[in-house]
Amino acid sequence: MKISDRLTNLTPSGSDGWEIIYETDRLRRAGQEIIALTVGEHDVPTDPRILNAMHQSAANGATGYTAVGGLPALRSAIAARIARRTGVETGPQNILVTPGGQAALFAAHMAVLDPNDEALYISPSYATYPGTIRAAGGHPVEVHSDPNTGFPPPIQAIEEATQKARSLLINTPNNPTGIVYDASALAKLGKLCKERDLWLISDEVYDTMIWSGNFISARQECDPERTLIVGSMSKSHAMTGSRIGWLCGPAELIAHLENLATHTTYGLPAYIQDAAIAGFELGTEFEKEVAAPFLRRREIALAQLDELQLLKVIPPQSGMYVMVDIRETGLCGQQFATQLLHQYSVAVMPGESFGASAAGHIRIALTAQDDLLREAIGKIGEFASKLEQTKIGAK
Ligand code: PMP
Repeated sequence: MKISDRLTNLTPSGSDGWEIIYETDRLRRAGQEIIALTVGEHDVPTDPRILNAMHQSAANGATGYTAVGGLPALRSAIAARIARRTGVETGPQNILVTPGGQAALFAAHMAVLDPNDEALYISPSYATYPGTIRAAGGHPVEVHSDPNTGFPPPIQAIEEATQKARSLLINTPNNPTGIVYDASALAKLGKLCKERDLWLISDEVYDTMIWSGNFISARQECDPERTLIVGSMSKSHAMTGSRIGWLCGPAELIAHLENLATHTTYGLPAYIQDAAIAGFELGTEFEKEVAAPFLRRREIALAQLDELQLLKVIPPQSGMYVMVDIRETGLCGQQFATQLLHQYSVAVMPGESFGASAAGHIRIALTAQDDLLREAIGKIGEFASKLEQTKIGAK
């Protein structure tokens, strides 16, 4: 039987970019010990206070269907948080609660794209972006940023790509590069979206992990009537498995997405949503505690990587990752990551998983405990030295 083109063409290259992760799982199942610095996930479980709230909620009977757009109390809590952080008036009618930021990315594109509409996204990008746009019926168009200047927002390239586009997806703070868009870049993009009549979708799921400069939401600098913000508690509250996120946008669009939710998710578990409210009640100090290990490990990684000859580190302004330019080794990111995994039992992501602009790079997730991270980067160093010796020998 024929399976829909929508599904079979989701990842036309045949790769979803996660191959190293699948290979790591396979090797682990075969008994090999691997230090995995791949997936952006905390090395600690969700805080017991949040889990307790989840349990209490379920035990108290919150186990039935819920309002499809999200519990009113959670929508209000998210709206209040956004209003506080951006200074832009935001109410529960502007919020759709979704199963994670990923579902919010999908909802956003479902809301703004008609079949085959062009949807821009910036490369390097989070690996799911092109597939998410395709899943929503759109045609993804990759806009490149420059690896030689640390991947700044490619304003001019975006401008040149907007002729037929309906939407622009940005990601600030960025996974994988750690770039944070400043007010001036956001204002330029906001102006461009207005001139070209584009929707701006800003994925801000790393907004609590800022290491230098300030975080500014696109909701602040761009017209809120054409701007959609993707948020999540996965990274800020170490709740990746709870699948809880949101989309913030104009009330009319959110109302249509509630209708879509009726025909897709039919709402989220109330006990997860109650746990999310409890998570927000822990305040910004808690968010800082969740983020702290990544700043500490950033320093560890930068100090160790700085000593390596062939590798050029791009110090991240934010997030859970460090990007390393490995082009001097002569290997592509895929070859580097595959050889590192098989020869040194360390798993990192090849840059190619994040789009063509990140080719010749690797992304190291700072998601292992400090000592393991030191050990893994030591092994990356050994591998880089071996490559250097080979290079010298070949001269
Ligand atoms: N956006 C970015 C940039 C991400 O890195 C991730 C997860 N790694 C997501 C969205 C989706 O996160 P979640 O669905 O867990 O909220």
